[in-house]
Amino acid sequence: MSNPTIAIVGSGPIGSTYARLLLEHVPNARVVMFEAGPQLTDVPGESVRNIPDPAEKARAREMSQGPQAGAYRESLGIPAATVTEGMFTARQGTHLLDFGGAGSAHAPSFPAAAAATNVGGQGAHWTCATPSPAFSEKVPFIADDEWDGLIEDAKQLLHVHSAAFADSKVGEAIRSLLDEEFGAELPGGYGVGTLPVAGDPQPDGSVRWAGADVVLGPLIDQDSPLSKRFELRDLTLVRRVELDGRRVTGITVQDLRTGEASFVPADIVVVAADAFRSPQLLWVSGVRPKALGHYLTEHPVVISTVALDAEKMERYATGEDLEAELARRAHNPADPVAAVNRIPFSEPEHPFSVQVMYSESTPFPMEPGTPYAENRWGYVNMGYGMRKHPRYEDAVTFDDNEPDYRGFPNMTIEYALTEREEKEIAEATERLRRAGKALGAFVAEPRLMPNGSSLHYQGTMRMGQADDGTSVADPWSRVWGYENLVVGGNALIPTATAMNPTLMSVAIAVRGARKIAAELGS
Ligand code: FAD
Repeated sequence: MSNPTIAIVGSGPIGSTYARLLLEHVPNARVVMFEAGPQLTDVPGESVRNIPDPAEKARAREMSQGPQAGAYRESLGIPAATVTEGMFTARQGTHLLDFGGAGSAHAPSFPAAAAATNVGGQGAHWTCATPSPAFSEKVPFIADDEWDGLIEDAKQLLHVHSAAFADSKVGEAIRSLLDEEFGAELPGGYGVGTLPVAGDPQPDGSVRWAGADVVLGPLIDQDSPLSKRFELRDLTLVRRVELDGRRVTGITVQDLRTGEASFVPADIVVVAADAFRSPQLLWVSGVRPKALGHYLTEHPVVISTVALDAEKMERYATGEDLEAELARRAHNPADPVAAVNRIPFSEPEHPFSVQVMYSESTPFPMEPGTPYAENRWGYVNMGYGMRKHPRYEDAVTFDDNEPDYRGFPNMTIEYALTEREEKEIAEATERLRRAGKALGAFVAEPRLMPNGSSLHYQGTMRMGQADDGTSVADPWSRVWGYENLVVGGNALIPTATAMNPTLMSVAIAVRGARKIAAELGS
């Protein structure tokens, strides 16, 4: 095909992976990326965590909150108080799907479901934890050799570092204490370690966090020839994928600045608009495979906050080490992440993904005088992420007769935990109690977060090996029966996972993009 045009819906890390690889590997291709939300930073898709000024950062987060942002929120009649960091509502930079105003989704069994609407998507707000899938988390029909290569490519695209903060003595002391408690129970190679994160360590010890910007790389560098074939249109809502039979002909878009709608012809359309809005867009476009929206999974999450015990910590670190850690954190006080440790998923020993984040303060205010309100060695916020086993009945469905706030068929989410999950949640809670005791004293007891809190929504456009009604996409992410319609994102993940999913979804996207490039005859 000469000079193909590829339209990409969504500017998060997955849409950006397709844009980058297709432009790098198809010399005459042109990529146009459409994003419903606004551009937040001068560098498109940059992590808002890199913004040092707290007021600027808060503004960028507010702008990402779609129906819950500023004037738009008021026009929908939603009270301002629904977005509060740390509450059972949306995290900053995101907006609840079931926000309670006009055209809100219906999700009483999945109340914390949220999305971000901005250039870079959720990838402008994410924590950047990038563990690799292991054991049964992996896609069963992609051979290990190929898979390992895809993961390596995904790590490069996301600037993943396995040993960020590895030199932190405070972090090391936390690892030693956790290893004393759990080390003997964990299999070789899957013990307590540092958490791989996506970002570039800076000379001052801080990290420049990765967003879609690093994935786009040369596409947003005006000096690169690739940037000449790339266009990013923010505040442009894709309303429909247009079809001629089983072939995509382009998309209908609406410029949200002017309200004007237009048709954009495209040879290939990639839909990477998150695990709820991608299936919604396919649905409204008349692409309705049986599995669309079904097999919804996420990670049940049990969290707690622990005050680090001085006596325990001083077995492995000194007061000077603590001062050094605090000095490093002072470089970017608005960034809460440092000394991040983990215990990875392993099977059958440890079917959990554990994240342990050091912080000098608690994520919630503590009354002066309450126990551990002042704690010299600081705190850790710890979470156990668990599996949700896929079931057809856990689903987002769409109602053609009820428009949502954007005029799309409204969403209803139905979701339930089963005995299988309840058992793993009980086990994880027990282990979290042990971890807390090993490190110090709880200032927030272990608690199960409401469904949807993980922000890791998977399965609603799952990939499969055969077109048997249990999957939406083929092994190269093309919607079954539609050769030039490709889907991307966590929604493709068909397995029950415990790890943070973005690295895995980028790996799947690398495979999909390579297939398109090969077929375009690069
Ligand atoms: P998104 O990043 O969600 O981007 C989709 C984009 O599509 C959005 O910008 C949206 O506005 C746009 N869009 C939707 N509909 C349309 C339309 N019709 N037209 C045009 N544009 C549209 N993951 C991890 O792996 N590790 C973590 O540590 C982690 N921490 C997180 C912390 C937070 C606070 C949040 C919010 C998320 C976190 N995640 C984490 C999840 C991670 O950010 C996502 O997995 C990742 O961003 C998914 O990428 P994506 O490109 O598929 O979708």
